[in-house]
Amino acid sequence: VLRMEAVRKSFGTSLVLRDVDLEVAPHTVTALIGASGSGKSTLLRCVNLLEEVDDGAIWLDGEEITDPRADADAVRRRIGVVFQAYNLFPHLTVLQNITLAPRRVHGLSRPEAEERARALLERLGLGAKADEYPDRLSGGQQQRAAIVRALAVRPRLLLLDEITAALDPELVGEVLGLVREVKDEGMTMVITTHEMVFAREVADQVCFLDAGVVLERGTPEEVFGNPGQERTRRFLRRFA
Ligand code: ATP
Ligand code: MG
Repeated sequence: VLRMEAVRKSFGTSLVLRDVDLEVAPHTVTALIGASGSGKSTLLRCVNLLEEVDDGAIWLDGEEITDPRADADAVRRRIGVVFQAYNLFPHLTVLQNITLAPRRVHGLSRPEAEERARALLERLGLGAKADEYPDRLSGGQQQRAAIVRALAVRPRLLLLDEITAALDPELVGEVLGLVREVKDEGMTMVITTHEMVFAREVADQVCFLDAGVVLERGTPEEVFGNPGQERTRRFLRRFA
């Protein structure tokens, strides 16, 4: 689904991504782990074309999206994104939040968009919240609704950046549970997380970023069970 080759990105004089290669197979979850500032969010922002890469290339479904001639809006329509917090529009109900992009960007009629949104909310356990405003929902419910909103346009790829970082610990589980369900439905995802237990359980591929370099990659068993680099071991010890 996604391929990155030798992607390089700097801000001013600081090199944030150094020749990053990444390959994401269909229906798999890739977890990006690493210390704060290692470049995880920047990598996701490059995939979504929110940042322009300095060098290297990114392909989505075989199309080079870093080609200057690529249609950035069309690319973004194929990628769902959820960030750490403040994902929902506060002045719209959950249903209105979810139907916005399908109607405005994908041209669905209101009844079509609403039917699809209600079905998705129902399936993902938020049916009762469709007509509530976000401030009436718990943080966990808001993040789940944000994930539903990202799914409503049926993206090819879902990018989740630290989606539980702003939540109270007791709400983290329900959001991660939803990610697990979305995975079981076959969605391809790239996630960044500091939840190592979750990354280990849900990911098919784990990449450890260190100062913009993918220092380690492999299955969760390889990266967590038997990391090859001393830096990876040191990072993981903090979560042990
Ligand atoms: P965290 O775990 O804290 O979310 P991260 O791995 O997501 O960290 P990034 O947000 O990708 O890290 O940031 C990587 C580096 O790039 C940091 O040193 C950051 O200060 C720098 N950086 C990110 N965005 C910008 C920007 N727009 N302008 C300048 N520097 C930036
Ligand atoms: Mg980040």
